[in-house]
Amino acid sequence: MAVDSPLSSPLGPPACEKDAKALQFIEEMTRNAESVQQRVLAEILSRNAETEYLRRFQLNGATDRETFKSKLPVITYEDLQPEIHRIANGDRSAILSAQPLSEFLTSSGTSAGERKLMPTIKEELDRRQLLYSLLMPVMNLYVAGLDKGKGLYFLFVKSETRTPGGLLARPVLTSYYKSDHFKTRPYDPYNVYTSPNEAILCPDSFQSMYTQMLCGLLDRHQVLRLGAVFASGLLRAIRFLQLNWRQLAHDMETGSLNLKITDPLLRECIVKTLKPNPELAQFVHHECSKDDWEGIIVRIWPNTKYLDVIVTGAMAQYIPTLDYYSGGLPLACTMYASSECYFGLNLNPMCKPSEVSYTIMPNMAYFEFFPHEPNLDSTGFDFTRELPPKLVDLVDVEVGKEYELLITTYAGLCRYRVGDILRVTGFHNSAPQFHFVRRKNVLLSIDSDKTDEAELQTAVENASHLLREHNASVVEYTSHADTKTIPGHYVVYWELLVKDSTNSPDNDTLEQCCLAMEESLNSVYRQGRVADNSIGPLEIRGVKNGTFEELMDYAISRGASINQYKVPRCVNFTPILELLDSRVVSAHFSPALPHWSPERSQ
Ligand code: AMP
Repeated sequence: MAVDSPLSSPLGPPACEKDAKALQFIEEMTRNAESVQQRVLAEILSRNAETEYLRRFQLNGATDRETFKSKLPVITYEDLQPEIHRIANGDRSAILSAQPLSEFLTSSGTSAGERKLMPTIKEELDRRQLLYSLLMPVMNLYVAGLDKGKGLYFLFVKSETRTPGGLLARPVLTSYYKSDHFKTRPYDPYNVYTSPNEAILCPDSFQSMYTQMLCGLLDRHQVLRLGAVFASGLLRAIRFLQLNWRQLAHDMETGSLNLKITDPLLRECIVKTLKPNPELAQFVHHECSKDDWEGIIVRIWPNTKYLDVIVTGAMAQYIPTLDYYSGGLPLACTMYASSECYFGLNLNPMCKPSEVSYTIMPNMAYFEFFPHEPNLDSTGFDFTRELPPKLVDLVDVEVGKEYELLITTYAGLCRYRVGDILRVTGFHNSAPQFHFVRRKNVLLSIDSDKTDEAELQTAVENASHLLREHNASVVEYTSHADTKTIPGHYVVYWELLVKDSTNSPDNDTLEQCCLAMEESLNSVYRQGRVADNSIGPLEIRGVKNGTFEELMDYAISRGASINQYKVPRCVNFTPILELLDSRVVSAHFSPALPHWSPERSQ
């Protein structure tokens, strides 16, 4: 019920007093975007004035924008490697941040095959929590009655390590779920989850998923929204249900918990609530044993009003599958965030996925934007030249234009290129709203893995060494992220040159080539294969000789210039995929898991 509050918001009537405050905060921040940005920059620069990094560029205590822009270079992660290395190895001096770094957050973006290590400080948790606290007040503007039930969210912690110098290194969500901010959050009727903390915090992914699914089934009538962070995660949960519903139904029937749940705290917590419920067991059996799983989400959880998952960016590939399983429930993309910094939220979360725009909250960090020329990814601008380029401030971006995002954070990243390309769609007050266009240089992605062209090239090169004993080589290749099955997998199309047809590469060799490629890919990919089970075995599809020439002919027939034609290293356009698939002569899958361990190799 909307309250008639003196704090009522231009965004719409708030659902309660607490929401009114949150909406008012959004209004204040977005109305004063320019002054908030100036304040944030001045705060960051004055707090960190004595850090080695700011002293190196002779900021001499200046906190104004002009000095900052004229003296500090635009950087990438690679530029910060020496500092990150020193911190990882135990140097506790104020290198990037005056406040001690509390941990490293391990990004799904990689550098030299390993997750990037993002410095963070304790107070960043407050900033992240602040952004989370704005999500439900906005959602309540569009969906009524979310305080009358629960959210079924599949949330997971992942493995963590320590750097040689003893700092924790773990993903940002693992850090958040393990924090008191999350674990001891006060009761909020709009944020009640079916998953107990013990299930979310269980490090074993099977036990965690099993118990979260079980609790979600037990509470099925109370579930009003269903989600995971990314679309791929929610589909993994559906797949899990397909594989495990019999055992889950058995547990409900008998009131006894699967013996594979061995985590003592988790077991104790679930056993307390699990009572025999033959009726529910029968229902689950009835629905899940059908061949047709279309609309399974609304059949099992009939009161679900929307799915809360990110389907923007690389995740857009999952929209048709989610629609299939959910019977077309609305898909809400609520926020835009990263390990480096949480950026902002969607003020119209029930809009169509293609219309999602995120409003960057100006209090989260200091933001700059580099005008982005489409198609000039790596060559577009030489950031290494002496004078820093003219970057645009948050309030000065122009509607319709694309930009690359740069951030300066409280934890000490200065003018750091995040690697995301955004397009301005409009403004809320004076804060711009952005459509997420894509991440730069990402060729293939199934889950949080991001494989770029160079990584794929190296993988193909390494694998093709195995062809030498067959006197064969890879003439051309391209790739595709196949998400028709769950989990999805990488498909690499190879056209081979076989010099001796009596000794052409056999299935065994090509399977080993698949595995060799997987061994070459970055650690986020291998973690997805080994620990998270979120990526299926890589597949090589051998295509007939001449296929890539046909591909070129096709491109030229559609207007490509013959002189400039380059083989695309990833294809998504259906007619080209159909052409490739119609020329496939053999298919081979990776026969084993690649190596992966939580320990970093460097
Ligand atoms: P990580 O560093 O692993 O936390 O990943 C952060 C990256 O995930 C961002 O820089 C984006 O590329 C991507 N990302 C995060 N939120 C969204 C979103 N809402 N839509 C599309 N991509 C997103």
